[in-house]
Amino acid sequence: MIQLDLRSLSHSQLTELVTSWGEPSYRADQIYNWLYRHFVLTVDEMTNLPAALRQRLAKETSLSTIRISQRQYSKDKSATKLLFSLPDGQAVEGVLLKYRKWFSACLSSQAGCRMGCAFCASTLGGLVRHLTVGEMMGQLVLLSREAKNMGGEVRSLVLMGTGEPLDNYNNVLAFLAQAANPAGLNLSYRRVTLSTCGLVPGIRRLANEGLPLTLAVSLHAPTDDLRSELMPINKVYPLAELMSACRYYSETTHRRITFEYALLDNVNDGLDKAQQLARLLKGMLCHVNLIPFNPVAERSFCRSSSSRVEAFYQVLQQEGISVTVRRELGSDITAACGQLRRRRLAKGAASYD
Ligand code: SAH
Repeated sequence: MIQLDLRSLSHSQLTELVTSWGEPSYRADQIYNWLYRHFVLTVDEMTNLPAALRQRLAKETSLSTIRISQRQYSKDKSATKLLFSLPDGQAVEGVLLKYRKWFSACLSSQAGCRMGCAFCASTLGGLVRHLTVGEMMGQLVLLSREAKNMGGEVRSLVLMGTGEPLDNYNNVLAFLAQAANPAGLNLSYRRVTLSTCGLVPGIRRLANEGLPLTLAVSLHAPTDDLRSELMPINKVYPLAELMSACRYYSETTHRRITFEYALLDNVNDGLDKAQQLARLLKGMLCHVNLIPFNPVAERSFCRSSSSRVEAFYQVLQQEGISVTVRRELGSDITAACGQLRRRRLAKGAASYD
């Protein structure tokens, strides 16, 4: 029998479940509290529940559908990378990044990815499957436990792990709603960044949800020719359509969009490209995040030198575009998208025990 994953249930679904078992509705508050305030991994730890209810939960539901199978710490301890294993042998990644006293959690939305970006490790084996709400909540709980063990808490969330979040739209949105629930993790949408390679219908649909989350768009090129070479999705939704959807997003939500631009040596990092990018973004409510590329073994791209990064940055600044170079955390621990998962899958299925 496939058991019901407790972490896949919203607070109201959990209330429905316990009341259908003849329990008072406040039992759902208690369970939610154990799950998302104490980050328990077993029903046995929910000590204020009656033994009979604990037994029934243990019998009819499951909790540990996702587990940590590997940890890596960056040398400066500012980044922890976790490899999670799933019951079907799949592996996905999450990262915990330290900012002063609090942490940002980065997690995966799919096992694999079907977007085919030419520089990315996550897409090398294609898409295996979408992650469930419970699997995304599970990653967040396990990352929150790590943060707690390091004396802090997770205060922000980025969907920049493996997968394309807008390709798993319904589960991702249900997950974010659950993470935002004040009775649980209370991670408000304002502290969430969702990153997309540019699925135009998804961007428009997200704009219409009216949620105050930050949209990050992986741009990586200022012209259709180059972008189509790097990101096949551009052949389906070319730049004009993408930029129009982005303008719709910022006009509808009044939120500033972040454009991600990974600098690939002699591919997209020339000063002409910086000028073209400035022209493309002129007048938009946006911010550009320049990402030093993390070389991927299976890919031939190289990282731009720091002087080329600086020159690119200067052009954008002179053109009045808000721009930063992403602080590099954890590049010594294969923190680039999908690299740890890739290595594990190359060795055979992730262990799950
Ligand atoms: N599918 C989503 C989110 C996942 S990737 C998206 O495309 O936005 C998060 C970011 O890392 C994206 O901007 C992606 O293009 C970028 N990225 C992927 N591989 C990288 C690498 N090796 N070095 C630097 N950035 C990389």
